[in-house]
Amino acid sequence: MRSMFTSESQFVDWLKRVCQARSDSAVVGIGDDAALVRPGSKQEIILTTDLSVEGVHFRRQLHPARSVGHRALARALSDIAAMGGTPRFALLSLALSRTTSRRWVEDFYTGAQVLARRTGTQIIGGDTALVSGPTSVDAVVAGEVPRGTALLRSGARAGDRIFVSGRLGLSALGLRMLKAGSSPVTARRSGHPLHAHLFPEPRLALGRFLRESRLASAVMDLSDGLSTDLARLCRASGVGAVLGTERLPLPNFPPIASNARLSAARADLLRLALNGGEDYELLFAVPQRKAKHVPKRYRGLPLTCIGEIRRSAGLYLSLPDGILKPLRAGGFEHFHRSHH
Ligand SMILES: [Mg+2]
Repeated sequence: MRSMFTSESQFVDWLKRVCQARSDSAVVGIGDDAALVRPGSKQEIILTTDLSVEGVHFRRQLHPARSVGHRALARALSDIAAMGGTPRFALLSLALSRTTSRRWVEDFYTGAQVLARRTGTQIIGGDTALVSGPTSVDAVVAGEVPRGTALLRSGARAGDRIFVSGRLGLSALGLRMLKAGSSPVTARRSGHPLHAHLFPEPRLALGRFLRESRLASAVMDLSDGLSTDLARLCRASGVGAVLGTERLPLPNFPPIASNARLSAARADLLRLALNGGEDYELLFAVPQRKAKHVPKRYRGLPLTCIGEIRRSAGLYLSLPDGILKPLRAGGFEHFHRSHH
C-alpha cells in the first residue's frame, strides 16, 4: 500500500515543521483557524491566486513533484514581481488525487518551500482534500508594495520602447524536451531549457528595480506567451505595438549560427519565443527618453528592447526585409479546448 498521512493532524504537524514561521514575524501561521498577518502601515497588499491542475499545467509523468511545488508558487510570485511587490505570505491548497503518495506530497512541499525561503515568502496555511479526479493546487500569495507605487499594465503610451527580460521560448523548448524523453535530472543548470521549464525563476528583483527606478510605464509577466500577453498589455493601455523579429531574444539552445538566415530551426525558435508560454519573464514598456537608462543586464539577466508601442491598436511583426505582418495571439488561451 502507498504510504500517506494517516490523519489531518499528522499532516498539519508535519506541515508546521516544514513551514516553520520565522520568529521575527507578527503572524499566527499554520495550526489555528486562520492565519493572522500584519501589513506594513505605508504598504498596499497585492493578492494573487493561481491554479495548477494536473493534465493542464503539469503532468505526473513529466513533472517531478518538486517541480510541481516550485512552479505552483512561482506562478503566483511572478504576478507579485510584475507589480513590483515583495512577497510575504502564501497559502497552498491541495486537492490530491487518491493515488498520490506521501513522498509526492513531501517533494511537492520541498519544491515550494525552497523557493519560498529564497524569496522571503512564508507558507502560512492552506487546505487539503483527497479527490477521485486529478490533483490540483491553488497558490494564494500576498505581497506588499509601497502605497501608490504598484506597477500596472495600463500605462504604456505611443513611442514607448518594449523590453523583455531573459530569453523567450526556453520553457516551451524544455517542455518539448521532456515530452521527447529528456530526464528532468539534467535540469540542474540555470539557463538550460529544462531548468527554465521545471524551475522558472520569478523576476522579483527586476520588478522591484523597475518600480524603484521609475523606468517602466507598464509591466506584466509573461505567463501565456508573448503574442498573447503583449496583446493584454496593449489592450489595458489602449495602444498597439510593433515587434522586430530580429530583436527577440531567442533560446540559445541548441546553439545556432548567429548569421543564420531565417532557417527552419530559427523559425521554430521564433514561434516558441512568440507563442510558448510559462517563461515568467517580465514584459515592460519604457518611455523613449528613459530607454537609454535601461541596463543591458540586470543582475546578470539580459534586458532586450524588442519593439515599440504604437498609437493605433493592433500588433505587428516587423520582418528583416521591413515588411509588417500582423501578429496573431498564438499563446496559451485557457478557454481553448486543446492546449500543450
Ligand atoms: Mg500575470
